[in-house]
Amino acid sequence: MTTPRIALFPGSFDPVTRGHVEIVERGIQLFDKIIVALGENSAKKYMFSLEERRRMLELSFAGEERIEVAVYNTLTVDFARTQGARFLLRGLRDGRDLAYERPIAIVNKYLNEEIETVYLVAESSYSDISSTLVREVIKYGRDPEGLLPDAALEVVRQKFQDS
Ligand code: ADP
Repeated sequence: MTTPRIALFPGSFDPVTRGHVEIVERGIQLFDKIIVALGENSAKKYMFSLEERRRMLELSFAGEERIEVAVYNTLTVDFARTQGARFLLRGLRDGRDLAYERPIAIVNKYLNEEIETVYLVAESSYSDISSTLVREVIKYGRDPEGLLPDAALEVVRQKFQDS
């Protein structure tokens, strides 16, 4: 039996967007399993709590047998190793993403040369959606329908229904 090809899709997912989902849906055609890895950085301020972000991811990928959700607070390559993942999956929206990603990929390679970073170019109508943009929409009291997977939208609506 060959070793399963497992990829980690790391991110903050604050919140998960349709752009993220699209990358995972395309990625699962390349890998046997994708672990959507929610990075928790205690120095970072988030709009959604860890539990809310995890719940939104779980709802978005419910019923997808080969897609898992996990939380980590270590170096991404170290977490990948504990999960048996040899690939890191990332999405590239534009030149800014590339400039941001390049040094990270180089350092990750230095930290663990067995782990390969794989990029998928965002090319759909969702490619302009960022979590930052979604947070802005929410902050100003608008419903972000269409920007997030419908399943995740419920978590947002519940959180802000009284405000
Ligand atoms: P991080 O804080 O690590 O950048 P994000 O949750 O913002 O985490 O993004 C996780 C990954 O998803 C990154 O590779 C990012 O480039 C990618 N991504 C974010 N939004 C989109 C989108 N609309 N289309 C494609 N890829 C995206």
